[in-house]
Order: sequence, then structure tokens, then C-alpha cells
Amino acid sequence: MKAQIPKGLFDILPYGSKEKWRLVSYWQYIESVIHEITSQFGFVEIRTPVFELAEVFNRGVGTSSDIVSKEMYVFQDKGNRCLALRPEGTSGVLRAFAEKNFSQLAKVHKLYYIAPMFRYERPQAGRYRQHHQFGVEAIGVLDPMMDVEIIDLLWQFLQRLDLKGLTLEINSLGDVSCREKYKLALIHYLSTHKNSLSSDSQVRLQKNPLRILDSKDPQDKEIVEKAPSILDFLSDETLSHFKKVCAYLEAIEIPYCVNPKIVRGLDYYNRTVFEISSNALGAQTALGGGGRYDNFTQIFGIEPLPGVGFGCGIERIIQAILAQNTAVPTPSHPFIYFIGLEEKSRNKAFSIVSTLRKHHIPAVMDFKEKKLSHALQRAHSSSSTYCVVIGEDELTTNTIKLKNMKSREEKTLALDSLVNTIIQMWK
Ligand code: AMP
Repeated sequence: MKAQIPKGLFDILPYGSKEKWRLVSYWQYIESVIHEITSQFGFVEIRTPVFELAEVFNRGVGTSSDIVSKEMYVFQDKGNRCLALRPEGTSGVLRAFAEKNFSQLAKVHKLYYIAPMFRYERPQAGRYRQHHQFGVEAIGVLDPMMDVEIIDLLWQFLQRLDLKGLTLEINSLGDVSCREKYKLALIHYLSTHKNSLSSDSQVRLQKNPLRILDSKDPQDKEIVEKAPSILDFLSDETLSHFKKVCAYLEAIEIPYCVNPKIVRGLDYYNRTVFEISSNALGAQTALGGGGRYDNFTQIFGIEPLPGVGFGCGIERIIQAILAQNTAVPTPSHPFIYFIGLEEKSRNKAFSIVSTLRKHHIPAVMDFKEKKLSHALQRAHSSSSTYCVVIGEDELTTNTIKLKNMKSREEKTLALDSLVNTIIQMWK
């Protein structure tokens, strides 16, 4: 058969990719920053399966959302269970949280994940059928300070990657009762423009009218411009929560703008919602977003616990880094590259390489026989710091030349003492 990856998917490769964002060195770099920053904020990692019972997402994200109704990969297994590939991170984390009775273990939980997500979307730049998200969930705290800790984490993460041109937009969706009142007002307003709405939005008008607020359709956008604002429907309590979020953001000097059109696509959000976008990207500018979900845990039959989290797309973050020509650390290279010219020399080289690795020294053996010039080229392209060639002469005279690949300087050494010398140099 023809070797071909399914549409909308991509490999993350060590080399050989025309598109630089698919090179694994960027991914490893981003992941290392994620592990570092989350630990500094006191978050611990959680890993949940790639698929769950479809019900987890149907109930969590909501069947009227695009993610569930249009984009979810749903399948039946051999036991006739209805399963779905994970389209977003929060539902699986909360399923695990409830199943493992985490709320009995501690009052506050700060969790993070790095995981692939699957959505059947029309593939285009910045939109794939498998993408990867770094996400966090803080469960157990209603204090608006936690909303801002989460935003601060995402903001500092993006700053640490040296991303410029970032915009933070925030909004509040209030609680269930504010939202119900707002929905009625919104439906009332939009119904007067029903015939001018896009066909998608006409369907959404009954099913999920809030989603019309973030429609990308130009005509919809014009209509939405004059729509009532959710902020006028907030209860005293949710308004006070929102004001505190704004005040804490100001206290730690994170610039933001309030955008009452930010609703996020998922049903579980209430109170604070936010999005961070970058001006480095073309059409798909959103790097990440999140918000509060204070009723989610009830879905899994446990007591209602407040929660707040975000998810951000690693593909888009790498693309933004590349678009801005931001320098990233270069991947590590071998310290020493060994070329053995014939069988006896290769055996010697092989055992030296193995010994060096026992000392945690990155050492590489050349694996193609024949031409020395080709082997030297391979040594060069490995970006190794040093190179050693061992042949019959070296074995009989017990001397080798240790070549510095950058300066091209050569040092003559006794073959016997090579391992110790390299160990000293590595230190
Ligand atoms: P969402 O939960 O839809 O807001 O997604 C969170 C983040 O994941 C977005 O801000 C994007 O950075 C990223 N993302 C979402 N869908 C895709 C996709 N189909 N392809 C690539 N990245 C995506």
C-alpha cells in the first residue's frame, strides 16, 4: 500500500520535515518549559486515556457544542460500548478525579496535562484533526484569585517562550440563572435579525445562541455587534467575582481587555472565561483559552466543586514562535563520535562507546562501513563535539587522534587512556 498519513494529521519528526514546527526539538523544548513552569506554580501532572466513554464528553462538553455534535470521533468497540477519542482535556481529568475520589484526598487540586486531542475539523493552517494541548485544571477553589493564578500561568508560560503581540480577553458568563436571562434577551434580539444570520447561526439560535457571539461570519459579526451584553445580566455575586478578577490582573500587571463576546465553545463554563491570542498567526489566532466550571463534577455523581482551567494548542504556539523568529535552545548533540575502520577497530570502538554511555556521556558509533570520507561527513552532520577514528594503525601503536569538530584541532592520546580522558573532559 501507499505510505500515507490520514488527512489532517501530521508526524512530529526528528528531521526531514519541510515545516519546521513539526520538528521534535521544538516540542521537547516546549514540553520542558511546561514541566518547569507548572512545578513552579505547584501543579502536578495527570495522564488520562486517549479515549473515554462518549458519554463523558456528551455530558461534560454538551451535545449542542460543535465539538461534540460535529467534530467528535465516536466509535463502537467490540463490546458495543460507545467510545470517543478525546476532543478536549477537562472532561477526562474530571472523570478521573471523580472516579478516584480525589476530593477525599485534599481540598485543593492543581493538575496539568500535555495530551493529543482529536476533532474532525476541516484541515487548514492551524487546524488539525489531531492537535496537542497543554492544559491545567485547578479544582476546589472558588476564590477569583485562582482564576487569575491560572491566567498568570498561561501568560507567564507564553512570556517565557518570548512570544510578543499577545492579547488577553476576558469575560464573565455569570451563573446559570444570569445566563438563562441573558439567553432570552439574546434570542429576542437575534430573532429580529434571523433571516440575515448565517445558516449555521440560524440553527444555533435555538440550540446554542451564545455561540453566535463568536461566529466568524462577517454578517453575523455585524449583527452581534449590537447584541445585548452578558455583563449587564450578571448577578451581584458574579459581578463582584468578575471585578475581583480584573483587580487581581491589574495587581500583577497583566494587560487585558474585557470582551463580552467571548463565550468559549464548551457548555461547562460559568463566571470567568478568557482567551489569549497572538498577532503572529494568520487566520487561527487563538493560542489558548479557558475559564471557570463550578458544576462540572456533579455530572459524575459527586458533590459540586468549583474548578477553573485552560487549554492551549502546542502547534499554534510553536508556529507563533517560528513566525516571530524567536530563538529556541538547540537540541543536545553527541559529545563524541566514533568511527571504526575494520572489524577489530569497530569492536574496540563499540566497547569504548558502551563504557562512555555508562558514564552518561552522549557517545555515538558510526554504523556504515566502507568509505572514511562518508563516515566523517556523518560525524559532521551529527554536530558532535569530538570525533575519533580507530583503525589498525591506532590499535598497533596504541595512539589515537581526538579531533575537535569545531576548531579542527587534534590531540594525540594513548588509546588506553581515551576513556578516562573523555570522562575528565565531559566533567
Ligand atoms: P479550544 O478548547 O477549542 O478553545 O482549544 C484550545 C486551544 O487548542 C486553541 O486555542 C488552539 O490553540 C488549540 N486548538 C483547538 N482546536 C485545534 C485544532 N483543530 N488544531 C490545532 N489547534 C487547535
